[in-house]
This record gives sequence, C-alpha cells and structure tokens, in this order.
Amino acid sequence: MQYEHILIRYGELTLKGRNRKLFTTQLAENVRQALIKFPAVKVQKNHDRMYIVLNGENPEPILERCSTIFGIQSMSLAIKVANEEEAIKEQALKLLLDSKNIRTFKVSTKRSNKDFPIGSQEFNHILGGYLLNNSENITVDVHYPDLEISVDIRTEATYLTSKKIRGAAGLPVGSSGKALLLLSGGIDSPVAGYLAMKRGMQLEAIHFHSPPYTSDRAMEKVLDLAEKLSFYGHSVKVHIVPFTALQQKVHREIPHGYSMTVMRRMMMRISEAFARKKGILSLITGESLGQVASQTMESMYAINAVTSYPVIRPLITMDKTEIISISEEINMYDISIRPYEDCCTVFVPNAPKTKPRLEKVEQFEASLIFEPDIEEIVEAIETVEIKTRESQEQELDDLL
Ligand code: ATP
Ligand code: MG
Repeated sequence: MQYEHILIRYGELTLKGRNRKLFTTQLAENVRQALIKFPAVKVQKNHDRMYIVLNGENPEPILERCSTIFGIQSMSLAIKVANEEEAIKEQALKLLLDSKNIRTFKVSTKRSNKDFPIGSQEFNHILGGYLLNNSENITVDVHYPDLEISVDIRTEATYLTSKKIRGAAGLPVGSSGKALLLLSGGIDSPVAGYLAMKRGMQLEAIHFHSPPYTSDRAMEKVLDLAEKLSFYGHSVKVHIVPFTALQQKVHREIPHGYSMTVMRRMMMRISEAFARKKGILSLITGESLGQVASQTMESMYAINAVTSYPVIRPLITMDKTEIISISEEINMYDISIRPYEDCCTVFVPNAPKTKPRLEKVEQFEASLIFEPDIEEIVEAIETVEIKTRESQEQELDDLL
C-alpha cells in the first residue's frame, strides 16, 4: 500500500481552548524542524489534527522521528481519497487486502462533513458489506477486530487509516515557556529536564564546573546529556559556571556540617541571577525527596530560602528505580553512570547536616562576603550551544 500521508492527532492539545492555535503552531514548527532532513515532506496543520504529506518519502523513519516529539498523541498512516463512495470503497478494499494476517475487521466511519450524503452508521454497513463481498476468509468482528478501518469524511477529503501508533504525548516543547535546568552529570537532573520538556518547557542548562577538581570528562558528560535532551526539542544552551573559587571559599570558611547547604544556596543564587539576566522565569532541579542529605525537607527549606523563583522539581516524589527506568528508556543512563566526579561530590563533607537550620545558615553566611563573587561568576559564565542532530546535519549540508 502506498501511503501518502501521516495523520497526527493532538490529544491533550485540543483541550486548550483559545490557546490552541499557539500550541498547534508550535507543534507544527517542531515537526518541521525534526523532519528537516526530509525536504520533500510537507506539514499541514488543521485546528484539530495535522497531516504530514510524504511526497514519496518512506514513512518509517518519519514515524520513528515523530515518536519523540511531545504534543503528539498518536499517529496513523493515512490514505487520502475524494469524498466519493466508490473511491472510498476501492481504497478501503486495497487497504484490507494489503494487510497481512487479518481474519476479522471492522469499519468505523466519522462524518464531520454533513454534505456527504450517507450517514456514518449506514456507511459502516455499506462499506463493511462491500469489503466482505470482495474478500475471502475475512469476517466482521465489531469488538476485537484484527484490523479497524477508520473512515474520516471531512470537508476537503476522506482519510482512511488503520493502525494507531502511540505518540510521545505531553505538550509541544516551547509552548510552556523557558526554564533553566541545573544540569549535573548525574542520573536525576537529565531526567528532570526531559520531563519538563514533556510539559512543553524549552530548556537552557546551567552546569557548575570546578576545575581542576572536576575533569574535562565530567564536562563532556554534561554536554553529551544535553545533546540527548536536544533530541526532544530545540538546541540546548549549556551555561558553564566557573565555581572553583567560591566553592573553596565556602569550604574554607563555613563549618563543614553546613558547607553543603551553603554551597547549594550559592548555586541557587547564581542560577537565579543568571536566569533573571536571560529573562528565564523558573529553575528546574533533579531533586527527589529523601534521596540524599541535601534533599530532606529541612535542607530544601534552607536552600530554597535564597530564591523567589519557582523551582520545579519534576522528580520530587519519584523512587530512584522509577527515575532510572526513565533514564534508560531515553538512553541517558549509560552516559550518567560514567564515573567522573561532580563539583558537589568533590567538596561534600563527611557528615553534612541532614536537618540544617535556616537561622544558623544565615548566621554563618553573614560573615562571608560573597555578593561580589556571585556577580563576577555570573559575568564569567561561558555558553556552549548544543545543536539538535538535524540542525548539525543541515549546517554540514549547507557547507558542502
Ligand atoms: P543528579 O543525579 O541530577 O546529579 P543527585 O541525586 O546527584 O542529582 P544532588 O547532588 O543533591 O543530587 O543534586 C541535586 C540537584 O542539584 C541535581 O539534580 C541538579 O539539578 C543540581 N546539581 C547538582 N550538581 C550540579 C552541577 N554540578 N551543576 C548543575 N546542577 C547541579
Ligand atoms: Mg549528582
């Protein structure tokens, strides 16, 4: 069967009322970007669904690429036919006969085009009867058919589809604003970033780097993780924070039980100051309640106190096993477990306070002059832009 269209269903997007156009426009743009290496392909957007016109391209790699685009509920290969009974019958029969290992089928007609003269129930019978009469050893099963042929009679044409392929769901990346992800090289924060993207957030990432205590390899890990993230959306900028001097200062001047809390507060301050400068309105971390000393309720309270920014913690209620299984699913786990140390593990005291008290933290910080350091650090942040694989290939093509 020569399919010429892929039908894309929006799912949750259809609930968005007046904002819907914004969402669908973003989704169409994201699909176009993701399919940039298939120049013949065209994307057509309606208010309630989208069509990819294949123009001769093989649908398989396109379906596969689209399966990681958030905002798509499901996809089907579709045949576009004129709104004529005979034409629909002919194509539906072809679809049935071309399907392998089919013993039962069902026809489901939806007629949004009321100018079409036959009602949907009646058309189910007419088409079902026609298919039965023109095939052998195939019967109708309305409950558990091997093949369901959906006939969607619309104003511009009729679309025939059979299989539904599950999409990545969620909302189109870019439709929920931009957030700054605190990205370490660990398992959790990349998963947090992925889940935030699934809710439509576009990401920039900030990474705290403490050479020579942390190596280039540790940095490389972070960039590799950012590349994996970029696959689900747009290019990801990774902002690299030169953190060594301030970390040393904290380590030197704050009692060890509290140095971890203070260091985290510095990370929050720097992240917020940088986000503010970039007009980004929220922070994301990979924190999960109770996982380590800095992720107790008391720690989060003391750390969070330095920022008025919303801090989004997509993993807060998840078990480590759940987080790991997502990490594996999105192919990040093998990168995350590469054994290079993060700045937070290098300076971690033997016994960090699991229940730091805010008054004490503030008291210790009062004797530390750190505001100029923060300003200086924010100024010195360097940015690496991780492009999506598609835009890298496109640039290469443009060069050649
Ligand atoms: P992860 O697996 O994300 O490293 P973790 O379980 O190691 O998390 P922590 O070390 O307590 O937990 O870090 C908590 C969160 O702080 C991380 O999920 C991340 O969002 C942020 N973070 C930690 N280290 C860094 C870093 N070097 N650069 C940027 N953000 C960091
Ligand atoms: Mg970590």
